[in-house]
Amino acid sequence: MQVFPLRDKLTGLLTREGFLSKLTGSSCQRGLAVVWFNLDNFKMFNKRFGFERGDSILMEIAGLLTKIFRGELIARFCDDNFVVLTEWTSVEMNIESLQEYLYSSHENIALRLRAGIYFPSECEDIRLSCDRAKLACDSIRKNHSLNSCMFHEGMSRELALQQHILDNLDSAINKKHIRVLYQPIVKIESGKICEIEALARWFDPEKGFISPGEFINTLEQYMEIHKLDIHAFRQVCRDYEARIKKGMPLIPVSINLSRLDFELCDIYSELEDALTLCRIPPELIRIEITESINDEDMTLLNLGIEKFRARGHEVWMDDFGSGYSSLNVLKDYNFDTIKFDMKFLHGFDINKSEKAKYIISSNLQMARLMGMQALAEGVETLEQLEYLRSIGFDKAQGYYFGKPMNLDEIFSLERGIEYTS
Ligand code: C2E
Ligand code: MG
Ligand code: MG
Repeated sequence: MQVFPLRDKLTGLLTREGFLSKLTGSSCQRGLAVVWFNLDNFKMFNKRFGFERGDSILMEIAGLLTKIFRGELIARFCDDNFVVLTEWTSVEMNIESLQEYLYSSHENIALRLRAGIYFPSECEDIRLSCDRAKLACDSIRKNHSLNSCMFHEGMSRELALQQHILDNLDSAINKKHIRVLYQPIVKIESGKICEIEALARWFDPEKGFISPGEFINTLEQYMEIHKLDIHAFRQVCRDYEARIKKGMPLIPVSINLSRLDFELCDIYSELEDALTLCRIPPELIRIEITESINDEDMTLLNLGIEKFRARGHEVWMDDFGSGYSSLNVLKDYNFDTIKFDMKFLHGFDINKSEKAKYIISSNLQMARLMGMQALAEGVETLEQLEYLRSIGFDKAQGYYFGKPMNLDEIFSLERGIEYTS
């Protein structure tokens, strides 16, 4: 039987096992709070500053926790995850002073220690309480305006949905509950449809419609995203094959790949095998990759992108401008087209949005100088379209031209298709 240490070697705090062992068999207690702490981007921090400095931050946090939550149960569960069981009355004040201490001694680096708080009911299983505090902590990962957050029941529902997604992915693929719809992309000059984007849709018999916003995040978080992506492009290939067999015309389609696909499987061979099986020429398939690329997978991703391009696929950068690293990503990778994130056009008013206009037009110019085409996402009004036309955008996509729909519907749209030879 494996014996887990009860004390953490690095920080001297309790380990997860040490923490739990202190609580088993103890009588129910009232008025306590469980706090889960996590440091943002700790992996990146280690990469940037080295493991020694990473270790010293962990020790510093352990020291601060011990000082501020004196006499309470404090543990380092794993990596950069710390848990405290404390009095509920002073919990928020203590978290704040901990964060203040930490930030004031590291003013020159962007450190963020998130905290999730949960107030357990009497006699509740402590492991469940910790999970809930963690859930609260995870919920503000992307919300930089909050550094701490209390658990609420909605988070349990989110967790249940996540679990449902993970448990049912394989069967949803096999039973065709996950389908692909296509959204038109329009050449601004001619006003005609020149390409389409394939977007996954999950119609679940139990939960109803699950939006990509929900399942993509979960599948990425749990490293299952490649299964969905392979399924989606196989479906695209089958849809295209059916039209080829009937002698019907086709236009290029873009498929969304996650940057994680490049780590999780041989995504290049998967796609090429699917294309060969259905006799689809690679020139018909564009690859969209989101900009949220971090340094870690750079080599793998760059090799992947170049391989796809050498094979005849265009590679597009999706959601440009939505993350932190857009400009660096443009510098380090070769893309044929930049898709400007729809946030650029959000609330756009031709007479008022001066700043938005500067940002859009200067980024467009940059794309031009780098020899890339520019596509604007999220076009919803004629006014937006006219502005994009006036500054020289190549293509546009958005509800103004059509929502995602079945492949055959695209070809019956009044707007018409512009075929490239
Ligand atoms: P995306 O690739 O940037 O796709 C555009 C999203 O914007 C789609 O949402 C589309 O329905 C929506 N959209 C298009 N025009 C408009 C508009 O005018 N206004 C507004 N408000 N929204 C518009 P959807 O289908 O919900 O997909 C969300 C994201 O999920 C996609 O963003 C993409 O990143 C991801 N996704 C979808 N399908 C797949 C897939 O098969 N694989 C992977 N890896 N990701 C996928
Ligand atoms: Mg996309
Ligand atoms: Mg996009």
